Amino acid sequence: MARVYADVNARLGPSWYDYESTKVDWNVPDRYEIVRRIGGGRYSEVFEGIDSSNEESCVIKVLKPVAKKKIKREIKILRNLAGGPNVIRLMDTVHDPPSRSNSLVMEYVQNTDWKDLYGTLTEMEIKFYLFQLLRALDFVHSRGIIHRDVKPGNIMFDRSRRKLRLIDWGLAEFYHPGTELHIRVASRYFKGPELLVGYKHYDYSLDLWSVGTILAALIFRREHFFRGRDNEDQLLKIVKVLGTDDFERYLTTYRLYLQTYNDDLLQSYAKQPWSRFVTQDNKANVSSDGIDLLDKLLRYNHQERLTAAEALAHSFFSTCSLSHSTPQPRGADRPLSSPLPMRVGRLCAVVRIDAVRLETPSNPAECVSDSGFYST
Ligand code: ATP
Ligand code: MG
Repeated sequence: MARVYADVNARLGPSWYDYESTKVDWNVPDRYEIVRRIGGGRYSEVFEGIDSSNEESCVIKVLKPVAKKKIKREIKILRNLAGGPNVIRLMDTVHDPPSRSNSLVMEYVQNTDWKDLYGTLTEMEIKFYLFQLLRALDFVHSRGIIHRDVKPGNIMFDRSRRKLRLIDWGLAEFYHPGTELHIRVASRYFKGPELLVGYKHYDYSLDLWSVGTILAALIFRREHFFRGRDNEDQLLKIVKVLGTDDFERYLTTYRLYLQTYNDDLLQSYAKQPWSRFVTQDNKANVSSDGIDLLDKLLRYNHQERLTAAEALAHSFFSTCSLSHSTPQPRGADRPLSSPLPMRVGRLCAVVRIDAVRLETPSNPAECVSDSGFYST
């Protein structure tokens, strides 16, 4: 069972987590104009657009025809999390009759591509990036939701405005202790060991593994830290770093059996010291605090990993001020080119207060009223 926030959904009740009964009002798309395609994946085509009613940029995520249930889950979760720190804002849901497509209209972030980020972020920027990501996750987890696809492609970061938003809630799910979850979630390089060994009772801590892989990529300046060719190779890449002994202890603890024909996975590997990954090129980003935080996130046993709130309180973040106490959307978005202010002192107290309060939040982005027509 999750070490934190385990009973959130039981406390908030079905009106909070029962996404299948969510009613979605699909508005007409006339006020939005497409400017250019900015992305897309398995489940959508994504465009930058303009809202002609106010001339503001927006994102139009045109959903591919998937199960209605999945679409409702994404919308319900976006509505539940509306107004939370660093959570992308859902502004409208629209249906286009000629193409029979449904789209989510969202806040636009002028994202800096990961390829231009991982090798160039300064230590302070790494702290900022990680801190804002963890703030989002602590909030999301405190609302009973696991993101399940945390990866750089789902973290929009406008470097010059210092604005970070967690996007893509298409795989996010409500956490109910004791209920099995699907293991075919997340993207390979960011999949926690629990997914790779078929453990279905995972929880919020899955997201913290993904955060650990991102931190490793940032401090060691590697595009991806664990880069497997397939899921078994992904597990092998992890075992070659964290070692066989702890892996076996983990399997024993959760009574898991690894069925594999991969001889390499059956070999014995010593745990690598993190210092092994330090090079001339990345040593400016590596600090004992960073390594300590990394070490406490990248644990096989999900119960041993730091929670998002614990990670936020880690001394890695104690030397920078990250404008975290101001609520979004005015919050972290500082004007262009303002330097990161430096401050010595711990941030956790402020963070905890605004991150984990548990009453049902008001939903400023409840822009989709209840009706119910649906087409996939
Ligand atoms: P995938 O299957 O690749 O995870 P998806 O179909 O679920 O993707 P999203 O991850 O929501 O869709 O969006 C796909 C891409 O579109 C993102 O990786 C990003 O490049 C771009 N994108 C999505 N939302 C935004 C946004 N709010 N601001 C800027 N770019 C965005
Ligand atoms: Mg995505």
